[in-house]
Amino acid sequence: MGQKTYTKSKQAFKEAVELMPGGVNSPVRGFKSVNMDPIFMESGKGAIIKDIDGNEYIDYILSWGPLILGHTHPDVVSAIQKVAETGTSFGAPTLLENELAELVIDRVPSIEMVRMVSSGTEATMSALRLARGYTKRNKILKFEGCYHGHADSLLIKAGSGVATLGLPDSPGVPESIASNTITVPYNDLESVKLAIKEYGDDLAAIIVEPVAGNMGVVGPDNGFLKGLRELTEENGSLLIFDEVMTGFRVGYKCAQGHFNIKPDLTCLGKVIGGGLPVGAYGGSREIMEHVAPAGTIYQAGTLSGNPLAMTAGIETLRKLTPKTYEHFIQLGDQLEEGFRAAAKANNIPHTVNRAGSMIGFFFTDQRVNNYDKAKTSDLELFAEYYRLMAEEGILLPPSQFEGMFLSAAHTEEHIVKTVEAFHKVFEKLKR
Ligand code: PMP
Repeated sequence: MGQKTYTKSKQAFKEAVELMPGGVNSPVRGFKSVNMDPIFMESGKGAIIKDIDGNEYIDYILSWGPLILGHTHPDVVSAIQKVAETGTSFGAPTLLENELAELVIDRVPSIEMVRMVSSGTEATMSALRLARGYTKRNKILKFEGCYHGHADSLLIKAGSGVATLGLPDSPGVPESIASNTITVPYNDLESVKLAIKEYGDDLAAIIVEPVAGNMGVVGPDNGFLKGLRELTEENGSLLIFDEVMTGFRVGYKCAQGHFNIKPDLTCLGKVIGGGLPVGAYGGSREIMEHVAPAGTIYQAGTLSGNPLAMTAGIETLRKLTPKTYEHFIQLGDQLEEGFRAAAKANNIPHTVNRAGSMIGFFFTDQRVNNYDKAKTSDLELFAEYYRLMAEEGILLPPSQFEGMFLSAAHTEEHIVKTVEAFHKVFEKLKR
């Protein structure tokens, strides 16, 4: 593939930085960690995305996860068009909300009742309020390297010990809020036990990504999720699975179906909106009936259950079958094998973690099972690899700490092209 030019993207970015902070509406779109200017996109079809300079790429970002059917699936697009003609928002219930709720309840093992919101952040934030209101406790425990959206309680980094109260991860998050969040390393049940010993009486919930997708892809060690289930049960705290990313990606019945562990509350987003803004949280009827107006714990949204968003979600979930996930495993095997062979041939240190259609490549020899290990990846090497892969027409998430996604529209041919690019690129990066 020839040298790509990004003339129009560069001009658009120059204009955008005068209009929006950093020129973008969400930080990772700034491409900062790979030392590039953002690429402005124009259109997508299936697994292919096209930028405003006319460059085409095989897309492994897929809008950061939602586009599990690929871009502009004809049935999703026509369903949205049809609904748009009947009304874009009513602020009153519609049948579409019942339909998506039924699909979610049917598919997610622990959900008996669900509340739709408009983003993953809203889902986690609301689930925490529910957990605190329900248990009448204040503290929550999260894991280092897990991202659960940008609500104050969750934008917290680890303190200095193994099981310490957190510190604000951003200016604007009050210390008084951070001090209610305990942060411990992922896959470390001993630290969880210590935290429960110290703060258990006031611990409302443990929130976890059942497969972490925000430090690259990092799966749970054997027994980790089961351990969390047992410890929370013993302590009277709720277990919250943040399945905003893993939901309908790791398996047909989400990560909880795949690992056969039932949390008390589940947060969803991304795939259930099929590319439109949707989030959701759900759990047992007994817990969910504490949410207003059935109960007293308040949470609301002008555009919650929006007809266009519900439609994209319904069409997307309906198209996913157990076979879709077999397709992901097959393509994932080929991609992993190709990556390993190319890296090995060129003496590049590497580790691969995978779960369903989420794939994480790290440039380290160490087994990566927590954030500290993820940080052993060679970030300079990642940035070079990133830029060269883009040159070859392969669009990866522009951060080492994000996973690649597959869609049902990806084919063996796309994987073959991607593996060819791995070989070409690693040849240039030979160690
Ligand atoms: N939880 C997880 C696990 C996520 O990956 C994300 C977003 N990447 C969120 C929550 C927040 O979702 P949103 O960006 O829709 O607010």
